[in-house]
Amino acid sequence: MLATILHAPGDVRYEEVPEPTIRKPTDAIIRLSATCICGSDLWPYRGLQPLSGPAAMGHEYCGVVVEVGSAVTSVKPGQFVVGSFATSDNTCPHCRFGFPSSCIEREFMTGAQAPYARVPLADGTLVATDEMPADDLIPSLLATSDVLGTGWYAAEAAAVKEGGTAVVVGDGAVGLMGVLAAKEMGAVRIIAMSRHKARQELALEYGATDIIAERGEDGIRRIRELTDGIGADSVLECVGTQESMEQAISVCRPGGHIGYVGVPHGVTFDGQRLFFAQSSLLGGPAPVRRFLPHLMDLVLSRKINPGKVFDLELPIADVAEGYKAMDERRAIKTLLRV
Ligand SMILES: [Zn+2]
Repeated sequence: MLATILHAPGDVRYEEVPEPTIRKPTDAIIRLSATCICGSDLWPYRGLQPLSGPAAMGHEYCGVVVEVGSAVTSVKPGQFVVGSFATSDNTCPHCRFGFPSSCIEREFMTGAQAPYARVPLADGTLVATDEMPADDLIPSLLATSDVLGTGWYAAEAAAVKEGGTAVVVGDGAVGLMGVLAAKEMGAVRIIAMSRHKARQELALEYGATDIIAERGEDGIRRIRELTDGIGADSVLECVGTQESMEQAISVCRPGGHIGYVGVPHGVTFDGQRLFFAQSSLLGGPAPVRRFLPHLMDLVLSRKINPGKVFDLELPIADVAEGYKAMDERRAIKTLLRV
């Protein structure tokens, strides 16, 4: 089959690879219904994350099971499934404590920007729907696999509460999903930081009450003004740079919570600064598997429409253009039709 391989920074190809096969009795093979490009795929694409040889790209997926290993009991061929980018057995102490993205058996999914993919730990990782979902729900179901689950985690880690205030740092796909999550969790004031018109509009549609285009000191001052000089109860950091982290810490009120889900690149913390900021910090790879049943229900009952975050749709053969469009910020997120 043909699949997406990143050979070097800026060099992504759709090329011939062996079809995935069952390697362990706990594996499943799925036929992708659609797949997509993640903001985190841009780190190696931009050469900001080392690449040790050609890499099979893609970790967001939904589709139909075509084959399962001999030990798999909870899903069967023909079922529509969604899974997390981090696979999990759903039984180990970390899974049972609510953090399946740190599962003792965890593997990170790869190779899902392809027509077929192998999913390890299928029993713990995959969640099946009762019936085949309508076609128009596929983008939103795909979004639950990572981008929505990660935005959701940012809001949960930032302890967004009914009636609270939330600031979302970052207007990428995850930040926009963070806005949606904060709204669902009942925040009454959601301040989205964004300088791009299309992203501002989507943020407003997903529930943002205020948009701040300023960054750095100006951005911090604007948020302080909007919160009567107090700062926000909850801050969702959805970028992963020093600047975005500084922004997040500076606008969180004492006793407030920061959920940080942008994978930090070159971020350092000053101990005394953190001490006096007096904020809770929780980050890491989102425990998406824990949220999946709830998020899939919200999508299947059409209560939320996270799929709108895909503003570019391409046939998977044009995957290279999909990367380019996201790299140049012409697209928020690219959906690939398989
Ligand atoms: Zn586990």
